[in-house]
Amino acid sequence: MSKTDSLIKQKASKKSYDAIIIGAGPNGLAAAIVLAKAGLDVLIVEACNTVGGGCRSAELTLPGYLHDVCSSVYPLGYGSPFFRTLPLNDFGLRWINPDVSYAHPFDDNKAILVYRSIEKTATQFKEDSDAYYKLMQSLFIDWDMLCEILLNPLHWASIQKLIRHPLSLANFASKSLMSAEFLSKTIFQHSLGPGVFAGVSAHSGLPLTSIASASIGLVLNIAAHAVGWPMPEGGAQKLSNSLGEYFMHLNGEIVTKCNINSLEELPVSRLILCDLMPQQVSRLAGHLLPTAYKKQLENYKYGPGSFKMDWALNGPIPWNNPDCLKAPTVHLGGSFEEIAQSEQAVNSKSHSSKPYVLLAQHSLFDSTRAPANKHTAWAYCHVPNGSNVDMTEAIENQIERFAHGFKERIIARSQISPSGLASYNANYIGGDINGGSLRLGQLLMRPVPRLNPYSTPNETIYLCSAATPPGSGVHGMSGYYAALSALAGWHAKKSIAF
Ligand SMILES: Cc1cc2nc3c(=O)[nH]c(=O)nc-3n(C[C@H](O)[C@H](O)[C@H](O)COP(=O)(O)OP(=O)(O)OC[C@H]3O[C@@H](n4cnc5c(N)ncnc54)[C@H](O)[C@@H]3O)c2cc1C
Repeated sequence: MSKTDSLIKQKASKKSYDAIIIGAGPNGLAAAIVLAKAGLDVLIVEACNTVGGGCRSAELTLPGYLHDVCSSVYPLGYGSPFFRTLPLNDFGLRWINPDVSYAHPFDDNKAILVYRSIEKTATQFKEDSDAYYKLMQSLFIDWDMLCEILLNPLHWASIQKLIRHPLSLANFASKSLMSAEFLSKTIFQHSLGPGVFAGVSAHSGLPLTSIASASIGLVLNIAAHAVGWPMPEGGAQKLSNSLGEYFMHLNGEIVTKCNINSLEELPVSRLILCDLMPQQVSRLAGHLLPTAYKKQLENYKYGPGSFKMDWALNGPIPWNNPDCLKAPTVHLGGSFEEIAQSEQAVNSKSHSSKPYVLLAQHSLFDSTRAPANKHTAWAYCHVPNGSNVDMTEAIENQIERFAHGFKERIIARSQISPSGLASYNANYIGGDINGGSLRLGQLLMRPVPRLNPYSTPNETIYLCSAATPPGSGVHGMSGYYAALSALAGWHAKKSIAF
C-alpha cells in the first residue's frame, strides 16, 4: 500500500475484486448478496459507520430509546420476493407483524383500522363496505403473482412474465393509472373511503390529483392485506445487519466510514454497482461515462423533501380513539380534501400548517424499543425539496388534534430537516426519501429511458439504488435486478474496460 493510495485502497483487504458495490443501503446489500452467491469476490464500500442506508436505528433522543433513523415499517421488505429467499432469521431478523396494518383517525373520533382481512376492514366503511371489498378483492390474488406485476422492472424479462397475467395486469394498470382523487371519488360514495385512500396514497409525495398517484396507495393497500405492514424486532438496523451478516457469511467484505468521491479511487474491479442517486453517479464517474448519458442522469427529477421527528414518551400516545393503539402505523390528516391540500401545497413549494403526517408507534409492539412503561414515536411530513422550515410545531399539533394530551407525554424529541437527511445520507437529495420523483414517466423509466435501466453505456458500471425500478422502499429488488443484469454481462464478457 502506498501513502498516496485512496482511503478505500488503504482499507480494503485486496487490490482487486470481481465486483464493488458503493453504498450499503438495502439495495446495495441485496446486489452484493446476489453477486456473492454467484461466487464473485465482492466488496461493499459505505460512507457511514454502519450498514443500512435508509434502514438504520439509533438512540436519537435519550439512552434506552431506540428509534429508526429513516425507514420504519416494511410491507415491501417483508413481502420482498428476494428477501424472502434469504435465511435472514439465522442472522438475527425477527419480524413483528400485527393484525392491523395501519389506522386512519378522523376528527369525529372515528378511526378506520386496516386489518389483514379485507372483509373485516370493509365492514367499517358502512355504506361503502361493498365498494372497499370489491376494490381490494379484485386486486388481491396472491402476493407472489402480484409481485411479478408490482415489483418487477419494465424490461423484456418482466414483460414476458406480465403477458402470463393479462387480466390482473389490466385491472391493476387501469386503476393505478388514475389519480388518487379520481379513483377514490369514483369508488366511494362517502367520506371515510376517500380519507383512508388519501392517507395511503400520500406516501408517494405526489399531488393526489396527478396521474397515477393512485398506484402507490394501491400497492401499499394490497400489501396491507396480503403481507401486513411489519417491523423488525429491535429496529430497522436488525434488518440491515441480517443482510450484512449474511453477505459476510458468503465471504463478502464490507468497508465502512469510506466516502467515495470518484470511481477511480476504487481498487480494481470488473463490475461496479452504485447504490447511489443518478446525479452522484454522474459526478463520481468522471470520464468513465459519456457526456450525453451523464446529462440524462443530471436531469433526473427529485421529489419533495421530508421533515422527520422522533419522540421519547412517558406513556403510549393518548389517541382520542383508543383503537389506534392497535396499529403500528397511523396516518394523520383527516379528510381526503385536507390531505390532498397538504400534498398539493408541498408540490407547489409551500408548507401546510396542517401537514399530512405518517406516524409509527413501535414500542407498543416491541418492548426492546423503550424502557419499561415508556414509549417511542416516529413521524414525518412532506415539505418542499430542500426546505429549511421547522415543522416541529405543525407535526405535534396534528398529533395533538387526534390524541389530546400527546404533548404532555413528550420527554424528549429529535428532528431532522431535509438538509439534515441529505447530510446523513447523500442519496436523500434535498431530503427526497423516495430516490427521485415518483411521477408516472420517471416511475416507469428510472433513472433514464433505457432497455436495461440498471446498465450504463460503460459495461462495467451499473446503478442499483431506489432510482432504478421498482423504485422507493426497503425491498432490495432494485439491487437484486441490477445484480442479475450485471451477472448476465459478467458471463457474456469477463474483461475490464478501464
Ligand atoms: C424518513 C424516511 C422514512 C422512510 N420510511 C420508509 C418506510 O417506512 N418503509 C420503506 O420501505 N421505506 C421507507 N423509506 C425509504 C427507504 O429508506 C429507501 O427507499 C431505501 O433506503 C432505499 O434504499 P437504497 O439501498 O436504494 O438507498 P439508501 O438506503 O439510501 O442507501 C444508500 C447508501 O449509500 C451510501 N452512500 C451514498 N453516497 C456514498 C458515497 N459517495 N460513498 C459511499 N457510500 C455512499 C449511503 O450512506 C447509504 O448507506 C424512508 C426513508 C426516509 C428517509
